[in-house]
Amino acid sequence: MKSILIIGGGLVGVSCALRLQAAGLAVTLIDPGDKKRGASYGNAGHIGSEQVSPWSAWENVLRAPRSSFGVGGPLDFRWTDVALWTPWSMRFLAACDPARFARGREALSALLEDALPAWQRIADLAGRPDMVIPHGHVTAWMTREGAERGLAAFAKAQWGKATWREMNAGELARYSGVLSRLPQAGAVFSGTGQVSDPQGARDAMLASFTERGGVIVADSVVGLSATPARATLASGGVREADALLVSAGAWSGRVMAMLGVRAPVIGERGYHLQSTETNWPRDLPTTVFDENFIAVSRFTTGLRCTSFVEFGSPDAPGDERKWRRLRQRIDELGLQFSPTPERWVGSRPSLPDFLPAIGRLERAPNVLYAFGHAHLGLTEAPITSELMCALATDKAPAFDLAPFRVERFG
Ligand SMILES: Cc1cc2nc3c(=O)[nH]c(=O)nc-3n(C[C@H](O)[C@H](O)[C@H](O)COP(=O)(O)OP(=O)(O)OC[C@H]3O[C@@H](n4cnc5c(N)ncnc54)[C@H](O)[C@@H]3O)c2cc1C
Repeated sequence: MKSILIIGGGLVGVSCALRLQAAGLAVTLIDPGDKKRGASYGNAGHIGSEQVSPWSAWENVLRAPRSSFGVGGPLDFRWTDVALWTPWSMRFLAACDPARFARGREALSALLEDALPAWQRIADLAGRPDMVIPHGHVTAWMTREGAERGLAAFAKAQWGKATWREMNAGELARYSGVLSRLPQAGAVFSGTGQVSDPQGARDAMLASFTERGGVIVADSVVGLSATPARATLASGGVREADALLVSAGAWSGRVMAMLGVRAPVIGERGYHLQSTETNWPRDLPTTVFDENFIAVSRFTTGLRCTSFVEFGSPDAPGDERKWRRLRQRIDELGLQFSPTPERWVGSRPSLPDFLPAIGRLERAPNVLYAFGHAHLGLTEAPITSELMCALATDKAPAFDLAPFRVERFG
């Protein structure tokens, strides 16, 4: 294939655009252009190569009542979207089968093994090596009981190639003045990292793509055909190429349906508050406050706190209660934070087995797809782009992509 239309310009689509262009393809990226619409704008920026266990696990099902929003936890379901999440939940429960979970973990381990180096490679390609900060991350516990429980669970869990150890007193003391009191304990990871700013990284890749002659079409795809590869745009225009790549995040189910393919992607919505006012040092890594259900990340644009897994439509408005709860958590930790922070809600694109869909359509080999990266789309975007590049240039991918076939959903 010589030319390709990429549908969706979040971190996954943009990484693929840059990588495929570097491989010599004429790439057109189609995206409506609202930078805050996709999950790529508002995430926690964590390169989470340690997260090798799929979320579709019995452990998470059993924990659900204790994790629900009603009792102070992060988990919620939008009742008005019950028709979306009921069939999705049935598939999710089936995916929790221990044998499927084990296979899923093996597949995720392969995908995550080279995720951090892949970020460094794409940052180099974009001419911005500074956008990747490989300084690990921290999980912290504010109570002694939480720390005991958490450290015991961490010792039993699998973390892929990433490693962790308990933090020493000196490392915990770095939170002095940043939090109202020091954590009781923490786990510090190596082999993980963060980006300097998620939207900044996306902008840098977009700039490099356009500088090298890449074409961006600010529009929405409303119709698709595989042969010939053609996209009909909301504005009425039509674009053609040799191939298509679908990377439309939480909207990918709708886009794949245009090709007659089933892909049960749901919006797993998350929220953030971000403050330009902060005394969180730039070199203090992303910290997950386990008992408070929030992740805190220092970006070049400010301090961001993220939380919540709320199942529903990616187009629904935000729930005010979630931002209020997030603010309450921030105040409980004693973080210095603006009284009028930026507020954002967006959707992780989640498939029921929490594995992304990465591959080539079996019945139309000129259609590639890369979506459904759920909690790990920032982490996995560059490695996904390398896999897409192998498929587009008829080379063997670095590992077996069978577990990621979209055809697994029938
Ligand atoms: C609160 C929160 C925290 C997170 N933290 C992390 C983290 O720390 N680390 C991590 O790895 N991941 C994290 N994630 C997950 C990560 O953000 C997502 O998995 C990732 O951004 C998905 O990228 P994407 O490119 O697939 O989709 P998106 O970023 O959603 O982009 C999809 C794009 O497709 C466009 N589109 C949709 N329909 C069409 C159409 N018909 N035609 C053209 N374009 C279309 C959309 O407008 C959008 O721009 C987090 C997510 C959330 C919500």
